[in-house]
Amino acid sequence: MPELPEVNTLCLALNHQLKGDAIIAWQRFSPKLRKPLPDSSAARSLFKLPIVRVFRQAKSIFFDLATDRFLHIHLGMTGFFTLECETLGAEMHKHLQLQLKSGRCLSYHDSRRFGVIEIVESLPKKVPEPFSGDLTVEWLKKSCESTDRPVKCLIMDQKVIAGLGNIYANEALFRAGIRPDRPANSLASAQVKKLTHEIITVVENAVNAGIASLQPDFGVDSETTHFDIETLVYGLHGQNCPVCRRYQLQKMTLSGRSSFFCPGCQK
Ligand SMILES: [Zn+2]
Repeated sequence: MPELPEVNTLCLALNHQLKGDAIIAWQRFSPKLRKPLPDSSAARSLFKLPIVRVFRQAKSIFFDLATDRFLHIHLGMTGFFTLECETLGAEMHKHLQLQLKSGRCLSYHDSRRFGVIEIVESLPKKVPEPFSGDLTVEWLKKSCESTDRPVKCLIMDQKVIAGLGNIYANEALFRAGIRPDRPANSLASAQVKKLTHEIITVVENAVNAGIASLQPDFGVDSETTHFDIETLVYGLHGQNCPVCRRYQLQKMTLSGRSSFFCPGCQK
């Protein structure tokens, strides 16, 4: 599933490619993804408007068209874009094709169809994102104090931190030495401070890896949302802990999501 760093990488590439271009035709191949997909007549009001910028908020992509509406895209589990120099026809899993003024063609593909493409009139309410200057120790401390939910479920709550996905939540908790199932309100102040720092570090490292993976020409294809990041615990249950080397990494499920931890290093 594309997480915040992957969405960020794609946004940078889309912004580089599309700024100043305009949508002139909209061809829908499916009536519905996770939500109904607008047809050409519903999207007509966006035609010929200059794309001012493509930007990201949490894990959502927005096209700013200098009007009172935004084109909103969420990649869901398997969404990606391709940008071609020519117009191609229907393909399996291609749901939308946008003809651009420049002659190019931007297509949205999504095999599992959990993505969203819609026209919205306002941006969602801003929640702190896992970046320095946005997510603060005070905010996380206040959020932790109010609940005995497992801390991993809390930090993945999109109303608490915007866009922190499963991989990065696991990694940040490992680096902070905190078990994923620890009740949030049992954390000491120093642990909340450490956790805030590690969340920001883990996401920033991945964002930088994503930027480094961009093609020199900012090409947009199925690979733009895929790049390698090194994990210390995610998906590594059964292996020895990379820090203490005394315990095997364990796996448990919290709110339906796989959670990995070292029973020795994380308390
Ligand atoms: Zn360990």
